[in-house]
Amino acid sequence: MIEKLVLATHNKGKVKEFEALLKGLVGEIKSAADWNLIEPAETGTTFVENATIKAMASMQATGLPALADDSGICVRALNDEPGVYTADWAGYPRDFNKAMALVHEKIGDAVDRSAYFASVLVLAYPDGRVESFEGKVHGHLTWPPRGDKGFGFDPMFIAEGYDKTFAEIEPEEKNKISHRARAVEKLIHHLKGE
Ligand code: IMP
Repeated sequence: MIEKLVLATHNKGKVKEFEALLKGLVGEIKSAADWNLIEPAETGTTFVENATIKAMASMQATGLPALADDSGICVRALNDEPGVYTADWAGYPRDFNKAMALVHEKIGDAVDRSAYFASVLVLAYPDGRVESFEGKVHGHLTWPPRGDKGFGFDPMFIAEGYDKTFAEIEPEEKNKISHRARAVEKLIHHLKGE
């Protein structure tokens, strides 16, 4: 078991989800914000590159194992954009309502509303080992946004087999099927040595 883990993120929504998902599997979890770490520039062009940049930066700054998630929403009508650029796509300051409205506007009247969330987790150990795990959840986009749970693009995303958005279902439900949950499942197998 990892006694102390740094979550290489300042995103409170992600921290909340990881604490729930990793309960009982990791001793103490602290985020990069708790450590006052600066966020490295996400200069990669893939989820795995960016997650590696973030995990390595937190691991090197703290000397502890660090877990980073790089995630985003990939919209088929936009050739899988915003994808790896999701967080900054709508400009600064980050505003999810603005970002959702921009996605909606760019899709226009495209018939294909399908999209998926992807998450790549990278776990960087102080001894130099780096492990990565990927999860996806497919669904479609709806408008106007609905629900006040979750974060980011949750209010406009409906997972396959559901009629409620990710911001309308309970967090426990989202944590069973989300891209992050699926990547964490793989991480858990790794932590258990399976
Ligand atoms: P990054 O991984 O910190 O670069 O940011 C990923 C961005 O993707 C977030 O800021 C959100 O806009 C979006 N995103 C990632 N995961 C989720 C999710 O579970 N729900 C809603 N939006 C998400």
